[in-house]
Amino acid sequence: MSIKLEHVTHTYGLGSPFEKTALHDVSLEIKSGEFVGIIGHTGSGKSTLVQLLNGLLQPTQGTVTVDGTDISQKTKEAMQMRHKVGMVFQYPEYQLFEETIARDIAFGPRNFGLNDDEIEERVREAMEFVGLDYQTYADRSPFRLSGGQMRRVAIAGVIAIHPQYLILDEPSAGLDPAGRREIFAEIQRWHREKNITVILVSHNMDDISRMASRLIVLSQGKICIDGEPLSVFATEQETLHRAGVSVPPVTEVMQYLKQRGLPLEDRVHTVEE
Ligand code: ADP
Repeated sequence: MSIKLEHVTHTYGLGSPFEKTALHDVSLEIKSGEFVGIIGHTGSGKSTLVQLLNGLLQPTQGTVTVDGTDISQKTKEAMQMRHKVGMVFQYPEYQLFEETIARDIAFGPRNFGLNDDEIEERVREAMEFVGLDYQTYADRSPFRLSGGQMRRVAIAGVIAIHPQYLILDEPSAGLDPAGRREIFAEIQRWHREKNITVILVSHNMDDISRMASRLIVLSQGKICIDGEPLSVFATEQETLHRAGVSVPPVTEVMQYLKQRGLPLEDRVHTVEE
């Protein structure tokens, strides 16, 4: 089970004076169960890449397959595969629009032909998952919540679709440190408990090095680094520097992980070797 890009190029405005190739011949496989961090300069192609992963954009060349199915096809099977890939955009709370929190979260599942009981079950489960009590919040307006809570509602709307692969684009942007910690703790919990594959786009190397088991660095529309974060920090300083990524010293990262008792000893061991 995986999402696979084979020789994917994406060009915006093909044939127009504004033509811009955002990704060049990228091949990549993200296997089910991975926690992948994607990092790179503004304009390096991160957002183009993640939109190709769930079929929002079509490759100009190459193919994107989810669990073996080419998702650019117009078949029912391809559509079902696209739904396995959930996408949480930046500032997802801007997309809230329903009168109540429960109705907003139900919007996705409602489009899948589920009955009312099944939809309510999905909403309850998704709310519980993002730490919002159903009884307290279901009938409230999403617009009266704090920024962090609004974001939880928006993320619950994606969780309610039961994605197998979850893409999050800067999920902590604009939140205060407590809000950031909460969101990241939850993402890690979903990954562990639901075995959801997580693809996290962030400009924050610190966040990625703590959570991801694989780091992909994009530069000018190409993958310049793909590896396990700590060994990448240890061996690829110069490439990271060229890609405009500021690198925390390896010893600092290791200390940080140890202090928090994160289960990363195997990775630390790799670097020490
Ligand atoms: P990132 O997410 O890393 O900031 P993007 O994937 O958004 O990078 O952009 C990659 C390149 O493609 C940039 O040069 C950007 O200006 C260009 N680009 C992005 N979206 C469009 C678009 N809709 N039309 C034309 N060019 C675009």
